[in-house]
Amino acid sequence: MPHTRPPDRLDALRGVGPKLTEALHRLGIRHPKDLLFHLPSRYEDRTQLSTLAQLRTASPVLLEGRIVGHHLAPGRRPQAVLAFQDLSGRARIRLFHFSRAYLQTLERAVAVRVFGEPRWAQGGIEFIHPEIQAFRDSPPELDDSLTPVYPTTEGLTQPRLRDLIVQVLAAGPDAWALEELLSESHRNTRPPLWDALLALHCPARHTPSTPCVERLALEELLAHRLLLMERRQRLRAAQAPACTASPAARRELLSRLPFSLTAAQQRVIAEIDADLAQPEPMMRLLQGDVGSGKTLVAAMAALTVLRQGHQVALMAPTELLAEQHVREFTQWFTPLGIAVQWLAGSVKGRSRQHTLEVIASGQAQMVIGTHALFQEQVVFAKLGLVIIDEQHRFGVAQRLQLHEKGVGTVPHQLIMTATPIPRTLAMTQFADLDVSVIDTLPPGRTPIDTRLVAQARDQDVMTRLDAQLNDGGQVYWVCTLIEESEQLAAEAAQTRAQKLSEHLPHRRIGLVHGRMRSEDKATVMQAFAEGVLDILVATTVIEVGVNVPNANIMVIENPERLGLAQLHQLRGRVGRGRRESYCILLYGSELGRETMDRLTLIRDTLDGFALAEADLRLRGPGEVSGTRQTGELMLRVARLDLHSHLLEEVADLAHSLAADEHIKTQLLDRWIGHRESFAHV
Ligand code: ADP
Ligand code: MG
Repeated sequence: MPHTRPPDRLDALRGVGPKLTEALHRLGIRHPKDLLFHLPSRYEDRTQLSTLAQLRTASPVLLEGRIVGHHLAPGRRPQAVLAFQDLSGRARIRLFHFSRAYLQTLERAVAVRVFGEPRWAQGGIEFIHPEIQAFRDSPPELDDSLTPVYPTTEGLTQPRLRDLIVQVLAAGPDAWALEELLSESHRNTRPPLWDALLALHCPARHTPSTPCVERLALEELLAHRLLLMERRQRLRAAQAPACTASPAARRELLSRLPFSLTAAQQRVIAEIDADLAQPEPMMRLLQGDVGSGKTLVAAMAALTVLRQGHQVALMAPTELLAEQHVREFTQWFTPLGIAVQWLAGSVKGRSRQHTLEVIASGQAQMVIGTHALFQEQVVFAKLGLVIIDEQHRFGVAQRLQLHEKGVGTVPHQLIMTATPIPRTLAMTQFADLDVSVIDTLPPGRTPIDTRLVAQARDQDVMTRLDAQLNDGGQVYWVCTLIEESEQLAAEAAQTRAQKLSEHLPHRRIGLVHGRMRSEDKATVMQAFAEGVLDILVATTVIEVGVNVPNANIMVIENPERLGLAQLHQLRGRVGRGRRESYCILLYGSELGRETMDRLTLIRDTLDGFALAEADLRLRGPGEVSGTRQTGELMLRVARLDLHSHLLEEVADLAHSLAADEHIKTQLLDRWIGHRESFAHV
């Protein structure tokens, strides 16, 4: 029906009333045209029948046969268990939602078609509430194309959604005045937009071809990229306090340190200085391996802004790390007459009230804490710079929240990470940031000798530690998380501390884990830092940032539970002083080949960037960036693992199209529209 007028409202579509309109809105679909860009997340194949005898894998199949009996099984939820039979054998079907009348209809049917995933249970093949269609006569022809499966929401079934999309497609390309936004040269050899859309919504017997998928992925990535660029531009247009560095204060701070800045630190500080001197907000990511000296760089940036009369906030991912920063900054800044203030979730009652007051009055100049800093009640008098340590734990949304803490102006932002950000992520989630890299470690570091030892030999390890401790070093003994449970890890750490004190009764042993009160943790850490303790048994809470140069041995129990980047972070706690340093990976029994390869890799590689790339290959981008859980960057067709080769092209295109408001508006409308988007915050 190419010449009828296209529906211009959702409720002009066949079968759409207020309820469905609401459901569609929840999916970000406001106009019939939006349905064109609501793309399938996968496909089901109902183009051919299988037989029970043929089944080998758990992928979904279509079967045809009869229901030859049923019984009701008692249980927490009552179930109907149906006996299904085809020409080749029998299987069970379990239903949780059924009525007596429905069961009768099924049994009376001449034939049923069942679509679902087979499971191999005791006594044969089973289907758990598959789709069932019953026929009174012989069943119709099979589908001649794959069935798309769409992301959907409550109250909107797949068949209904498919029907709506078919209606919209039937109106034809002219009805929607879909512009081909990418010129032919931009598209290379990829098909036109409409052809690509058709291929994804109505695939033939095979999943859509790569050029069709890429045609759409390219547009989608481009839309996200343009949005990031726009956001960045908007931010740049905001006012930030222009601050020039104060060499005298810097010299004074540095003169009290036992070392001088490395060339890499100086270069990065200069890059930050140039940003801070501008009246627009800095947005800079500082990358540097564990122990590369990021904190001092942050202090230099803070000093510049503080000297200009503005406040600085430093946010750390854990209380422990925040406390360590407080100690360090207090030591550096107090002689310069700068007040350092601490705020975390555990600061309560009257002392919290007081803290909020001094932050609001501006009396607190350098404010250090956890994400508690960015709660609504925290109001800064004159915030000029926000520093975030170990960025990968914070999402883009949190990053943006901070901007709102400035009054009248927007604070500068410095984000620090020890985990190198792989290229794919750098070009998507982080495309709005400038990047500085500290590429060399301070001199005088000793390379860490990493060894793999089977856990069964933990007695030997404890005995050898004793000999090592005679030379005056200190030991971290780390117990990793069991099934993501800090509770279990804490118990493991307690047990280990117990064993160590039985085995080495003359050694001073401390224990920290995430279930302790933060004052208690701080006390133990402080004792370790001061050399009062020989061995610190800890859960992975010490992972980031803790700095005790005299510690030279790290034992990690069950390292197989951690990713490479995390192991590297942990290991970086030692090798900070002049003593020979060791990392003992005490691995569990019966590890797979892949796990052993991973541990061997960390044993033989000291370069954090090389490890991060390997980690990305082994675990995929979501795990590495920590964004998997937060579900940021919601893409419909593009996939970072499959389409990273498009990113250069996307960056070029974004550059050449950024000034074209018409194209930009249309792309954003198509791909971002009213959806919740990471870039839309
Ligand atoms: P990270 O980059 O992991 O945050 P830190 O800032 O904690 O590293 O620095 C690690 C250690 O290196 C600290 O003890 C710090 O005082 C020291 N350090 C920093 N800069 C230098 C330098 N230029 N020369 C020697 N030691 C340095
Ligand atoms: Mg650090």
